[in-house]
Amino acid sequence: MRVAILGAGIMGSCLALQLSRRGVSVTLIDKEAAPAACASRWNEGKIHLGYLYGADPSLATARHMLPGSLLFSDLLQEVIDADPRRRATTSDDIFVVHRKSVTTPDALEALFCRIDELVSAHPDAGRYLADASTARHRRLGRDEVSAISGSDDIVAGFAVPERSIDTQWVADRLVDAVSATGGIELRLNTRVLGAEPVDLPGGAWRVRTDRGDEAFDLVVNTLWEGRLAVDATAGLPMPADWSHRYRLCLFVRTATHLDVPSTLICVGGFGDVKNYGGRDFYMSWYPVGLVATGREVAPPPRPVELGPDEEVRFVEGVRANLTRLLPATEQIFSAASETRIKGGYVFAQEAGDLNDPHATIHRRDRFGVERNGNYLSVDTGKYSTAPFMARRVAQIIAG
Ligand SMILES: Cc1cc2nc3c(=O)[nH]c(=O)nc-3n(C[C@H](O)[C@H](O)[C@H](O)COP(=O)(O)OP(=O)(O)OC[C@H]3O[C@@H](n4cnc5c(N)ncnc54)[C@H](O)[C@@H]3O)c2cc1C
Repeated sequence: MRVAILGAGIMGSCLALQLSRRGVSVTLIDKEAAPAACASRWNEGKIHLGYLYGADPSLATARHMLPGSLLFSDLLQEVIDADPRRRATTSDDIFVVHRKSVTTPDALEALFCRIDELVSAHPDAGRYLADASTARHRRLGRDEVSAISGSDDIVAGFAVPERSIDTQWVADRLVDAVSATGGIELRLNTRVLGAEPVDLPGGAWRVRTDRGDEAFDLVVNTLWEGRLAVDATAGLPMPADWSHRYRLCLFVRTATHLDVPSTLICVGGFGDVKNYGGRDFYMSWYPVGLVATGREVAPPPRPVELGPDEEVRFVEGVRANLTRLLPATEQIFSAASETRIKGGYVFAQEAGDLNDPHATIHRRDRFGVERNGNYLSVDTGKYSTAPFMARRVAQIIAG
């Protein structure tokens, strides 16, 4: 069986590695010059247990993400042959609640109690990045909140048992693994334009690219922001709703080791800082970093690279907003030895403004696999759920 995987992000790469472990030959196609060069390299790497979705009281998001997030580390290790736990954050995330949060601290606390139950009762809780079988959130005292932020805009705080992973390290391991694994043919610098059945339903599929056409026994679309446009050519129905957003963030390396805690301002379109090992940091201020949005089948065009002056303005925009609410982040800006402005598309089968409590974007429970004969299309959902989805699709294809 010849299988084409369209898209070599974390989803396509994990799937290629899972299939090759099952003896299936794969052609992995991507428009970039290397695998894992887009959203899967440049994101925050939070492995979601559901706490961030504090404006989804149904808990549907937490329930949908939990099985994949708990197994993220084990399933990733299976394919990259290195232990992701060594590159994970080592303490609980701090969530501070903004005065303009779309949900109140008390409502959040009630929800966090229910998520604690959900997580700790799950049979795989012990397999999370850090054992979550006795995991509990903790509401911070007034003095603790004041020590994190002196701002009147911050009205409460929680320590939440979530961890994140250094996504650049994972991307490097995925590049090594797909390059070194026999049975995976890498087809890079190749843009996918469409996919159509060769003749009969249930038979082979032809993949159209800017470098020519080729038929495969089975095709899996993991193109993330490019997925719907190719699904449309393959005759798959479009989802009920969706949105594309392009987000830019800062990836900073510091000259010295810093103990700035990983802290997120919630719930809405605010910002956060993530500390990976004391010298590598992710920082974002959502309104500054949200540079393109769209609700068409094709994503809005990727923004052009910023010029030197725009880069300075961007960094200053993040810095001014973040340091006002989280003064400790000033240490990161002051000690920065390398600052990169990077980001990627976020696709969701939900939409709206994060500052609108009624926007569907506060839920993320609709991702999964669609199928038309030997053409499968995978909405990864989140980075957190990619290795789990990859194993599921590999099982569908090869048992
Ligand atoms: C700023 C930011 C922060 C985020 N934070 C988190 C987080 O903390 N936790 C979390 O779980 N998720 C997070 N996400 C979401 C996460 O990054 C994505 O869910 C995940 O990376 C998707 O993986 P993927 O492999 O499906 O997509 P990608 O990594 O984007 O891979 C898709 C691949 O398809 C290729 N491609 C697209 N169209 C075409 C085409 N037409 N032809 C050929 N190739 C094409 C691209 O080049 C790309 O390599 C964040 C995203 C962003 C942008």
